[in-house]
Amino acid sequence: MLNLIFDKIDRQIELSKENLIFLLNLKEKDDIKLLLNKAYEIKSAEVGKKVYYRGIIEFSNVCTKDCFYCGIRKSNTETERFMLDEESILNSAKFAHENRYGSIVLQSGEQSNPTFISFVENILKKIKQLSNNKLGITLSVGEQSDETYKRWFKAGAHRYLLRIETSNKKLYQKLHPESHDFNCRVNCLKLLRKNGYQVGTGVMIKLPYQTIEQLADDIIFFKNMDIDMIGMGPYLPHKNSLLTKLFPDAPNMSKLLELSLKMIAVTRIHLRNVNIAATTALQAIHPKGREQGLLAGANIIMPNLTDTEFRAPYQLYDNKPCIDENSKMCSACLSSRITGIGEEIGLDQWGDSPHFLKKHE
Ligand code: SAH
Ligand code: SF4
Repeated sequence: MLNLIFDKIDRQIELSKENLIFLLNLKEKDDIKLLLNKAYEIKSAEVGKKVYYRGIIEFSNVCTKDCFYCGIRKSNTETERFMLDEESILNSAKFAHENRYGSIVLQSGEQSNPTFISFVENILKKIKQLSNNKLGITLSVGEQSDETYKRWFKAGAHRYLLRIETSNKKLYQKLHPESHDFNCRVNCLKLLRKNGYQVGTGVMIKLPYQTIEQLADDIIFFKNMDIDMIGMGPYLPHKNSLLTKLFPDAPNMSKLLELSLKMIAVTRIHLRNVNIAATTALQAIHPKGREQGLLAGANIIMPNLTDTEFRAPYQLYDNKPCIDENSKMCSACLSSRITGIGEEIGLDQWGDSPHFLKKHE
């Protein structure tokens, strides 16, 4: 069966849902190795052996939402809330620019009041100014109105990351309070596309109740929604989240890593020329998790640019790596890790999704 599927992949015939499930279910170490190698081969052909940086600034943990899995959900009263001021955000952006990162991500909890909207708009404009329009900017600040997405695009954001978390509506409802609406999230992805953004989404892997079939459906969802960028990672418990209270058992880290890598590989095989991130959560489950993600088909890394003192309160899950380090340490550590596995770093470049560029040729 594996050979038949590989043959389809080589001839660029679209895989069926059953094929995707088969690949995600592979158990033998040798078969999994073949799968990851196949994905790496496609990555090399479609997007090159090149890694692009998105320096991530986690600028606020204030959130109006209450996602059951998240460490900074509104109901967690044990986290001290912070919002970085303009100067610290601009300093981190400057660091990214001077260190030739090419692009940054501004991420935070979700707020949609007028003060927040203007704050983000103003920051976007200032980052564009300080970098002579050179730094690319991705936003990841949740569900917003059409008008807000328009304002932020005009101010300089050109990519947006909004994970669907799971493409299965019933599972989505189990993981969120009733006020969080799956259809609204899907609609936001459509609004982002309409407004000209490169659109990123993704899911958490090995959520409670989640099945392999649903993960295959997630990959099909990415394709049907014509997504340009993927950011996925393992679901990890947070000590104060509701989900951890219901499912207190610690995950089996090696199984979690294996499934996460298979998801990256199968996504690369099915979507071919999109950008895929090797996320920080991968590193949380294995010291070389991100490198392994790159070797399984990912091509984006998101080095942390947040000031060290604010890393601890921005914990979406427990044991987040590098919270005691600073941006300089992260930068030096990363470049040796990447070149160590034979990949080049795309410095000073936006590293846009080839999938997006192809649509706009
Ligand atoms: N508030 C914004 C962006 C910040 S949260 C939003 O929700 O879109 C960024 C991502 O962190 C979420 O999309 C979710 O997939 C991930 N996340 C939250 N809690 C997590 C957990 N316990 N384990 C792994 N990832 C988690
Ligand atoms: Fe808020 Fe995002 Fe966490 Fe949900 S996942 S509680 S929106 S920060």
